[in-house]
Amino acid sequence: MSDCCSAQAQTHASALIEEHSSTDTRCTACGNAGRSVERKTVLHHVHHDLLERVRNEAYRFCPDPNCSLVYYSDGGAHFSTDDLRELVTVKASGDKRPLCYCFGLNEGDARDEIARAGNSSIPAQISQLIKAGMCACETRNPAGVCCLGQVNKAVKRLSEEHKTATESTHAPMHDCCVR
Ligand SMILES: [Zn+2]
Repeated sequence: MSDCCSAQAQTHASALIEEHSSTDTRCTACGNAGRSVERKTVLHHVHHDLLERVRNEAYRFCPDPNCSLVYYSDGGAHFSTDDLRELVTVKASGDKRPLCYCFGLNEGDARDEIARAGNSSIPAQISQLIKAGMCACETRNPAGVCCLGQVNKAVKRLSEEHKTATESTHAPMHDCCVR
C-alpha cells in the first residue's frame, strides 16, 4: 500500500504535466519533455544531406542542455547537434554560442559590448526589431521559439560576471595591510 502511494507522490508533479501528452512526446534520448516544432524548422536546420530524412511527421525539440539530441519525431526520426548546421543555444557554450539567430548575435558579441560599455544594448535592440515584426524566430531559431528569453538570460549572466570581475580588480586592499 505505502509503496504505491509514495510512487504516486513522486510522480504526481510530472503526471500533471504529462496529463495531456503521451510518452512519445518525451525525448527518446534523455526522457525530458520536448517542445513541438514545425517540420519546416527542422528542414531549415539539418545538413542538406539529411533533408530526405525529414519526413512529414510531428517533430519535437529537446531543450535539455545535457542531451545531444535536438529533434525527434513521432515516427522515430532523430537529429542530434552534429546533424545541424548551426550551434543550438541551450546545448552550446562559449563565445560562439548563438543568442539571436534572426540578427546574428552570439555570446561573444554581448561579452565584448559589456566589457567595453559596462552594459549591453542587444536586448533593447532585439526587442525593438521584434516589436516591429522583423524577427523570424520560429524558423531561424532551431528551438522554434523567440530568441529574446535566451538573450536576456545571457546578458544578465554576462553583466553579473563582468561586475564581479571589475569589483575584484578594483577591490581595496585587505585590512591587514592597512597599518
Ligand atoms: Zn533529450
